[in-house]
Amino acid sequence: MSRVKVLDKEFELSIPETDILKAVDEVAERINSDLDGKNPLMVCVLNGSFMFASDLMKRITIPCEISFVKLSSYQGTGSTGKVKELIGLNENIEGRTIVLLEDIVDTGLTICSTIDQVKALGPADVRVATMLFKPDACKKEVTLDYVGLNIPNDFIVGYGLDYDGYGRNLKNIYTVVE
Ligand code: 5GP
Repeated sequence: MSRVKVLDKEFELSIPETDILKAVDEVAERINSDLDGKNPLMVCVLNGSFMFASDLMKRITIPCEISFVKLSSYQGTGSTGKVKELIGLNENIEGRTIVLLEDIVDTGLTICSTIDQVKALGPADVRVATMLFKPDACKKEVTLDYVGLNIPNDFIVGYGLDYDGYGRNLKNIYTVVE
């Protein structure tokens, strides 16, 4: 399928599943090598990263755990602008190696706020694995330890990412047609 319609918008194929899975393979390989012996806790930030987390976890060969968190829809205002509260991280993460699993880093505000909230819980190390990164949109100085693919600053759907709730089930990534 080179074009799909999601709600009222047309999208065209930009990253086929084969390329996505190759990038996931490479991220997994690096995590397996970097974090061997660290028993990392992978933290999947829902909703968008469920597909990346699933494909990545199948390729992780070192002992690890996974937990699922959400960012509240409530938006308070903090020093970084809009801040969403991290909910659902109930385990004690003191001294643990944490790997945050994200679907996409766009402006970087969400990941920076998530990192700060996780660091406040006393882990030994917090790393970020994001499937996608829009370098031209990013406004924050943030270290992204593992990036699947760098993409242009266009709106995309598929592979877990939605347009108004729809399109998350698409196995390829599609870019909006303006
Ligand atoms: P940031 O805080 O980095 O600007 O944005 C992160 C969040 O914005 C992502 O977790 C995702 O929910 C949403 N987002 C950013 N870019 C896109 C995009 O191109 N498509 C979709 N569907 N969501 C996006």
